[in-house]
Amino acid sequence: MIEKQNPQSIDVDPLLRVVVDEAKCKTVGECVRIAPEIFTFTTGSKKATVKMALIPPGLFDKVQEAVEQCPYNAIVINRHENRKGIAT
Ligand code: SF4
Repeated sequence: MIEKQNPQSIDVDPLLRVVVDEAKCKTVGECVRIAPEIFTFTTGSKKATVKMALIPPGLFDKVQEAVEQCPYNAIVINRHENRKGIAT
């Protein structure tokens, strides 16, 4: 039996977020091949998008590889902190 994972229960680092710059994305698909848990193509769009912006620690290496392999530098990992160091 396959258990559905509650998105709220996924362990994530609230400070690390990944985004795809749609203006730069050229539909190569490396990101979707490397980390399908994070990246996808939506129906009718030729731009990759993220399924989840917050990166679970177990997937960080895959996201980092996607960043490195994207030939158009369209994937960015952001660290969000305000002046108190609290995730925003
Ligand atoms: S690897 Fe880069 S260019 Fe290719 S689909 Fe992903 S974000 Fe777009």
